[in-house]
Formats: sequence, structure tokens, C-alpha cells
Amino acid sequence: MKLAVIALGGNSLIHPKERGTSEKQIERVNKTVSYLKPVIKKFSLVLTHGSGPHVGNLLLQQKISKKLLPEMPLDTLDSMVQGQLGYWIQQTVENVLHKNAVTIITRVLVDKKDKAFKHPTKPIGQKSWKKIVASPKPIEILDIKEIETLIKKNFIVVACGGGGIPVIEKSGKYVGIEAVIDKDYATQKLASQLKAEMIIFLTDVDYVYHNYGKSNQKPLRRLNVNEAIKYIRENQFKEGSMKPKIEASVEFLKKGGKKVLITSPEKLNLALKGKVGTAIE
Ligand code: ADP
Ligand code: MG
Repeated sequence: MKLAVIALGGNSLIHPKERGTSEKQIERVNKTVSYLKPVIKKFSLVLTHGSGPHVGNLLLQQKISKKLLPEMPLDTLDSMVQGQLGYWIQQTVENVLHKNAVTIITRVLVDKKDKAFKHPTKPIGQKSWKKIVASPKPIEILDIKEIETLIKKNFIVVACGGGGIPVIEKSGKYVGIEAVIDKDYATQKLASQLKAEMIIFLTDVDYVYHNYGKSNQKPLRRLNVNEAIKYIRENQFKEGSMKPKIEASVEFLKKGGKKVLITSPEKLNLALKGKVGTAIE
């Protein structure tokens, strides 16, 4: 079977207006995963997910309890969030899709000279507490062999959660570094390394729009690589939200990927039939 990598957006996992109890979040994960039914018939699947709110919440918990317990660094928090969401997704995939799933704690190589370390840009946390952290570009997904082996054994693999755990090379060894990688760029690296056929970005809009948020906003139904590049240059896509998805899509298609779909989980079924959503080819 051909391979699709599906990126689950932050809002399908935790809603900005909700407190984010485990019950509520599991309910959201259940709902999102149930929309994947039509894809599992046609594709092997790897799932990635965002975690900006989750990793921010964990960081806040470290700060509050630091008189009692040592604070854990951000790369370790990235791994904790992969475990938390991986657990929920695995359980739901088995309960709702009746497929076996497995989560890989995924490390991602970044460059210690990445300018992101001097100029942090990524907000993590929720409304009540936010922090801006470094978001370096992923260079290579390190745990790729394990992921490939599990796909071949017919598991749905959850990987690169929260963009993966950033590590740098130091005297011939990997060491973790405090940062949060954007899950859209990490998803592209993963999909390209796995030679996937398709990436599906599930987010909280049904389409990518031209003139988004303006009175003349118009859904973009089909884009080719050149059109996508042109719109990036025209600043049609917001930094840190839609722009990374479109940049990741362009890179994926240039590296041999066949198709990218961007839509909401609810519209995925119709998007697969070409009726809704933005297709980039
Ligand atoms: P995710 O968790 O799925 O990565 P993001 O908030 O990062 O979610 O990205 C999705 C958001 O991108 C949408 O909610 C929308 O507000 C924003 N966005 C920015 N530019 C556009 C655009 N041109 N078309 C559609 N959505 C856009
Ligand atoms: Mg995002």
C-alpha cells in the first residue's frame, strides 16, 4: 500500500477555549481519529501531531513546582508530550479504527548554529500563559529506520509528535537542545525520508484561502508548486500558522512527493474525493 503522512493540528487535540482536561482532550482525539476511517482503506499511515499548547502547559508546571522538584528542560518536555499524545492516539486508533498503532519517541537533528536560537519565534502554552521559544528547522529525522520497520509490519505509526525532539551533534554524539520544532516542517522531512505519496495537513480551516480574513477571501482549491511559491512571496499565508504548511508542501513535492491535501478533519472524506479542501500537486 502507498503511504500517507497525516499531520494532526493543535486545535483538533486541544481547543484554545477549553481547559484541556484529559477527558476533553481524549474526546477530541477520538473525534479527529474517527475521521481517518476512509484513509486507512487506501493508505498505510504515519501520524504526526502538534503540541504547542501541551508543551507550554508542561513548562508552566515545571516553573510552578520548582521549589519542590528540579525543572526538566524543554527537550525532555518534548519527549513527555510525545508519550502523552502518543498514548491517547494509540488507544483511539485501536478502539475506533481497529488497527494496531505504535508511538515512536522521535529525535530530530537540528543545527546548533540555526538562527532560531538567537531569535526565538514560536509561542507555546495557552491563553493564560505563553512563552516564545526557539524553533529551529529540522535537518533529518533520526529514528527513521524504526519507523520504516513498523510501517512494513502494518502498524499505524505515531511519530515526530510536537515536531520531534531537537538534538544537535556534539563531538560525534547527539545531545538534546531546548527548542520546539514546527510540526509542519518535521512532517515534510519525515514524509520525504519515507518517500510517502501524500501529506495531509488536518487543521481548523476547510481550505487555504487567498486574501484570508478579508472581504474578498477566496478558497484555493488546487495549486501547483509555482502558484504556491508565488502566493508565499505575496505573503498570503501567515507566519507560524499557514506559511509553514505551504512551505513544507512545496519542499515535499519538489523532493518527489505526489500530493498534499490541506483541510479540516470533518471534511477529510470529501477532500479525498476532490470536493473540498486545498490540493497542492
Ligand atoms: P495547526 O495546529 O493545524 O498547525 P495553525 O493555527 O498553525 O494550526 O494553522 C492554521 C491557521 O492558519 C488557521 O486557523 C488560520 O487562522 C491560519 N491561516 C493563515 N493564513 C491562512 C490562509 N491564507 N488560509 C487559511 N488559513 C490561514
Ligand atoms: Mg501550526
